Amino acid sequence: MELAKVLFLMIVICISRVVVGDEMCPRMVEPVVLVHGGAGDIPDSQDQPKLEGVRRAAKAGYAVLAQGGSLLDAVQAAVEVMEDDEAFNAGHGSVLNADGEVEMDAIVMEGTGLNAGAVGAIKNVSHPVYVARLVMENTSHVLLVGDGAKRFANDMGVPDVPMESLITQKAKHALEKFKKSKSNDPTRTELGGVGTVGAVAVDSEGHVVCATSTGGTSGKMVGRVGDTPIPGSGGYSDDQIGTVSTTGVGESIMKVNLAHLVLNIMKQGKTAQEATIEAVNEMTNRVGKTAGAITLSNAGDIGIGFNSKKMAWAYQKGNEVHYGIREGDDFIEQIN
Ligand code: ASP
Repeated sequence: MELAKVLFLMIVICISRVVVGDEMCPRMVEPVVLVHGGAGDIPDSQDQPKLEGVRRAAKAGYAVLAQGGSLLDAVQAAVEVMEDDEAFNAGHGSVLNADGEVEMDAIVMEGTGLNAGAVGAIKNVSHPVYVARLVMENTSHVLLVGDGAKRFANDMGVPDVPMESLITQKAKHALEKFKKSKSNDPTRTELGGVGTVGAVAVDSEGHVVCATSTGGTSGKMVGRVGDTPIPGSGGYSDDQIGTVSTTGVGESIMKVNLAHLVLNIMKQGKTAQEATIEAVNEMTNRVGKTAGAITLSNAGDIGIGFNSKKMAWAYQKGNEVHYGIREGDDFIEQIN
C-alpha cells in the first residue's frame, strides 16, 4: 500500500512537471560546493599550496551543507578557509597597496531574493567575507567601504586585527618587485601575487549563492576598489539561472560585468561550462587582460573557465572532490 502511494506521488510529480513546467515543480538537485583560488600567472612553486587550499575549502563548505548548514554558511566557511591560508590573496596573505597596506574587498550574494552584501577597501579584519554577509543581513545597504565598513564590523562585534598580522613576506616581495619594475600598472598580475578566492554553491532545491574575497592587486592605489565587491562583476547569484564568482583583472571584469555576463549567456541556452569560457574570452576580446570564473547552474551543472595561465579550483559533489589548476586538469579524490 505504501509503495503504491509513493508510485502515485511520483506519477503526479512527473505529470505536473510536463503541465506546469520545471519552474513550478521543484527538482532534486545534487548539492555542490565549487571554489576557486584565483586566476593568473601562478608560479609553479605555488601549485601545491593552492591545490591543497582549494581542496580544503571545498570540503569545508560541503561539510557545512552536509551537516544541515545554509548555503551562505557553506560559502562563508569555504572562503574563510582560504582567507586564513597565506597561499591566497585574501584575508591573511592579501597583497599590498602602494603604501604597503592591506585593503580588502568581498561580496556575498544569494539567488532567491537577489540580496547582496559587500565591503570595499576594508582594513584590519580577518574575514572580509563575513563582514560582507553582515552588511547583507543587518543593513539596508549593499556596499560599505573603508572606515565606515570597519566601524560597522566593529559595531557587529568583529574584532580588529593588527595589519601586520595580515601581511606576509610574499606580499612584501610582490610589492617590492612591482615598485622595482617602475610599472604604473598594478593590473599586471605577473608582477604581483595572485589568488583571489571565491565559492559558489547550490542546494538540493536549486537555490544558489556566491562569495568572493580579495586583497586586490599588488601596488594598487590607496582606496582602489576592484570588481570583487560589485554585484554582477565579482559575483552574482540568481536562482532562476545560477551563480558565478570571478577572478582576474578587476578593471577589465568591471567593464563587462563578467559574473552577470556568464549568466546572460546561460540564459541564451548555453551550458554553465560553455557560458563561463565564452564570457571570459569575450571580456579579453573586448577590453583586454585575462580572467577566470566558476559557475553553477540552478540544476547543479558546473562551469570552470579561465584564459589566464592557471586558476586553482576544486569542488565536492557527493563523496568526490574534483580539482585542478591547469587547463584540462580534473584530478579526483574519493572521500570515504
Ligand atoms: N579581481 C581582483 C581585483 O581586481 C584580483 C584577482 O582576482 O586576482 O581586485
